[in-house]
Amino acid sequence: MASFSSLIGSRLVMTVRGPIPYKNIGITDAHNHVWIDPVPGADLASPVLNQFDSIVNELIEYRTEGGHTLLDCQPNGCGRNGNKLLALSKAADVNIIACSGFHRKKYYPRDHWLWNSSAEKVCDFITNEITKGLFETLDTAVPVNAGFIKIAIESTWPDCPHAALEGAAAAAYKTETLLEIHTEKGALAEKICLYFMDMGLFPTQLVLCHMDKRPDLVLHKELARSGVLLEYDTFYRPKYNPQTNLWPLIEQMAQANLSKSVALATDMAEANLYHSLGNGAGLASLPGEIHKQLQEKGFPQAVQAQMLGGNIARRLVGIH
Ligand SMILES: [Zn+2]
Repeated sequence: MASFSSLIGSRLVMTVRGPIPYKNIGITDAHNHVWIDPVPGADLASPVLNQFDSIVNELIEYRTEGGHTLLDCQPNGCGRNGNKLLALSKAADVNIIACSGFHRKKYYPRDHWLWNSSAEKVCDFITNEITKGLFETLDTAVPVNAGFIKIAIESTWPDCPHAALEGAAAAAYKTETLLEIHTEKGALAEKICLYFMDMGLFPTQLVLCHMDKRPDLVLHKELARSGVLLEYDTFYRPKYNPQTNLWPLIEQMAQANLSKSVALATDMAEANLYHSLGNGAGLASLPGEIHKQLQEKGFPQAVQAQMLGGNIARRLVGIH
């Protein structure tokens, strides 16, 4: 197939069903989870999402409410299943963008190869998943490619997996791919941006996840002005007080003309956030309830479109 750089040049986003023009990705959840296999040897509290029919139904509801696309943020080795992502995408007719990279150590068996590998090996692995296909799909008729890189950092720098970070940086640099970064409630946000910029990445290649758990407006404005995309997702997590933290943050960022640096998501890794698996709001809440609240609060249509997909779409193809 065409090289990944030529995909970027033609402004195509790589979904599990193949490339599509970035302008067609529509309402997009910038950080979600629609499949997680159980991982033997991982932390016993690791989430599992493997009830195919219920997940298909929620994806269909997502599409019915106006959702087109979502980024699945479960990387290799901690429950990702590219073949299931493809089957879900086909069954529900929703675009799913899969990732390569790594999650927090606790979601893997202790002896997983990622944590004892050189940066070069991690870089080669991620690069192959972007250019050739997710490893668990390589022996299928049409391998599924990763469309972005998702990594995780811990709350302190010494605890971060340094070789893996370096490998992810090199892969993102080489393939010009978007890098989503799980942060522990926004910790190390400034440091990790500088780190990746030192490694040659553009700030517009970086997405900082869960930043609304650290609702520091001054910091958010500074990061947004640098070009980094900030992902907010605590809409249905009462312990983070979304009414007093998340919603005012969205309003203040829009007032400061920085909504082009904000992406909204629901991050439903836990089954209890699904309405068919637990008692949660469900996948359809982003195009549904959240979209409706943005309208009721009077956000201009263009601002809503940016935060509900436009911003992540542009960055997936390397446009600020
Ligand atoms: Zn997540």
